[in-house]
Amino acid sequence: MDHIKRRAFLGMAGACAGAAWAHGRRAGASRSLAPGDDHRGPAVIASGNGRPATSRAYQMIMDGHDPVDAVVAGVNTVESDPNDMSVGYGGLPNEDGVVQLDASVMHGPTHKAGAVAAIENIKNPASVALLVLKRTDHVLIVGEGAKRFALAHGFKEENLLTDRAREAWLRWKYNANPNDDWLDYDQMDFQIQQEGAAREIPYTYGTINCSGVNEAGDLASVTTTSGLSYKIPGRVGDSPIVGAGMFCDNAVGAAGATGRGEAVIQNCGAFSVVREMENGLSPTEACLKVMKRIADRTKQKRLLNERGEPNFNVVLYALRKDGAYGSAVMRGDRSFAVTTSEGTRLEKCMPLFE
Ligand code: ASP
Repeated sequence: MDHIKRRAFLGMAGACAGAAWAHGRRAGASRSLAPGDDHRGPAVIASGNGRPATSRAYQMIMDGHDPVDAVVAGVNTVESDPNDMSVGYGGLPNEDGVVQLDASVMHGPTHKAGAVAAIENIKNPASVALLVLKRTDHVLIVGEGAKRFALAHGFKEENLLTDRAREAWLRWKYNANPNDDWLDYDQMDFQIQQEGAAREIPYTYGTINCSGVNEAGDLASVTTTSGLSYKIPGRVGDSPIVGAGMFCDNAVGAAGATGRGEAVIQNCGAFSVVREMENGLSPTEACLKVMKRIADRTKQKRLLNERGEPNFNVVLYALRKDGAYGSAVMRGDRSFAVTTSEGTRLEKCMPLFE
């Protein structure tokens, strides 16, 4: 399959393109599967919820800030937004009703990384991860230690569970087990406050990954999340795992992941995408190749649909040192955020399966 033009990619043809490419490709030069593969120069990309992040980070990069400070400041905007229920303040809690956050960040020029996992009551874990990177000889600090580290650096302890997230958690708890003492909705004799759509139980596989590159080709990447909704307390996903939820190699590029963290960890998602770019694939090709590997390595029946494809979703994002960028999704119509000299916009992720 040769160069796929923008219009074909944006339409239905795009959905087949990923699968056909991933199954049929032989070794050879990288090809432009999507418009981002042809871009050159400073750029910031992020998951689909990340337009405020890419536009802020890009502005900071163009003002001369280090890309690592820029991408962290970018994702701080989403972490602090109570309406985003997948990240930071307002994120959905674990099964105990406690918000536990994960974040990691990596700086290309120094090849340093910093991360925090299962941190509670601190609104901006990406900033704490950046301090781990800048001020310690460690990479990952977890739980109570991470909170104490943050408090020592002037972060404020605050309740991150918004009423909206608490009510969502309660709705999950009512219906979680038909045999417990919490009444399921259809067993309640009294009307409860949440009616209609509010009775739905939101689940998020949501996170923000953001990568940036400046004019000099210096890179940084960050990922921050409240993780899987209603997770087992202490569960850590891919987001704070360097090489899984994000990775950056200043000689090659940066990559990140959102979606089912367990699958991303088991396939070293972000690290693998960067290595595929190093092997000569374009950013979109690299994301597709790793997505295909994740699909091929999914062996458990409960994780497969009737066609033998993974029944969960993952999105991979890649930004090359020269400014080329791309993204792939396991399936479906998904977008990612991009800011370049042409402004901020959403572009389509290349689906592996329709
Ligand atoms: N990857 C995150 C995790 O597994 C969740 C997500 O991106 O939705 O914790």
